[in-house]
Amino acid sequence: MSFVEKIFEKAVFSRDDLIFLLNTSGDERLRLFEMAAETKARFVGRKVYFRGLLEYSNTCSKNCYYCGIRAGNKRYVRYRMTDSEVMEAVQYAYVNRFASIVIQSGEQNNQAFTRKIEKLLREIHASTNGELHVTLSLGEQSEETYRRWFEAGAHRYLLRIEVSNPDLYLKLHPNTPRHSYAARLNALHTLRSIGYQVGTGVMIGLPFQTIGDLADDLLFFRDFDIDMVGMGPYIEHEDTPLYRYRETLLPLTGRFDLSLKMVAILRIMMKDINIAATTAMQTIDPQGREKALLAGANVIMPNLTPVRYRQDYLLYENKPCLDEEAAACQTCLEARIRIAGDTIAYGEWGDSRHFQKRRTMDN
Ligand code: SAH
Ligand code: SF4
Repeated sequence: MSFVEKIFEKAVFSRDDLIFLLNTSGDERLRLFEMAAETKARFVGRKVYFRGLLEYSNTCSKNCYYCGIRAGNKRYVRYRMTDSEVMEAVQYAYVNRFASIVIQSGEQNNQAFTRKIEKLLREIHASTNGELHVTLSLGEQSEETYRRWFEAGAHRYLLRIEVSNPDLYLKLHPNTPRHSYAARLNALHTLRSIGYQVGTGVMIGLPFQTIGDLADDLLFFRDFDIDMVGMGPYIEHEDTPLYRYRETLLPLTGRFDLSLKMVAILRIMMKDINIAATTAMQTIDPQGREKALLAGANVIMPNLTPVRYRQDYLLYENKPCLDEEAAACQTCLEARIRIAGDTIAYGEWGDSRHFQKRRTMDN
């Protein structure tokens, strides 16, 4: 039995086990990926759920040091999708039986924004007979706002913790209450208490980040008992404060490999959660998302943002598919997923089995 297999015989992994797994190479590394693929097939099946992604607006009031659309970056034209553009994307997702969409945006905390999202949620619900599920990814908001959006029909919320180490968090964000680790964590707890299916995630290969930090991120997901995870490599952006540390980073291929290992280990640790094959993985490797599916991911987010806005939603450099309309994107993805050996679960909401189980136990 290999070392990797011995570790997976254990019921609970220690931090050292996780560090060992993140450092595997050669046959041990391949065995890790094989075991993750077996776990995926057995516990969630070889299915991929689509979440149509709407990059709703690039206006952001925050200044995270890693992100291209931070408030301090004056290069981008700030936009917001019109209501009819949103409803067109919604219809595309509905007609093509995606069953679910994600509305993502820079963070905006004001009444007009809260009301706008609330109104859109109700319209989406009405125009799709409540069949299209909506995930929000709109940053940190007050409990009241989260509650209003939940009541208007949002089912899931994605809010990455970004890094679970509070000291590292402080190095990656301005030292202000609006950017505090405590506020981020608190928002995740609030979302959970309201009843959302909660997703979180981290960036991998950041300046100052260690393998031990990544092991702690995996333990964080487990201890939070998270339902969904979206994580991917950190990719530098020249208009951001972190760009000056680019020489200290792992090469892109190293960040990609670590991201694949994070997906594989997490699949084995938390067998029935939803794990996204993220766009940042595709940015580094054209087949990055397919590789993530093989390593245990089961969710893909095809981009439904109108092409004219895509150049202005560059969280990081070299984002792919900037000129690809939704239909072209879908055809290309279908072929790629078939090559990876999975099937697309059209018309299925794909709620995380983990969430369903937790709900049954709570009731
Ligand atoms: N404003 C919201 C949602 C949009 S940002 C929020 O912050 O939650 C969505 C995600 O993009 C962030 O959570 C972050 O993990 C990721 N991101 C931002 N800059 C990035 C970069 N340079 N490389 C990789 N991912 C990045
Ligand atoms: Fe704004 Fe989100 Fe980017 Fe931070 S990561 S600057 S909150 S869009």
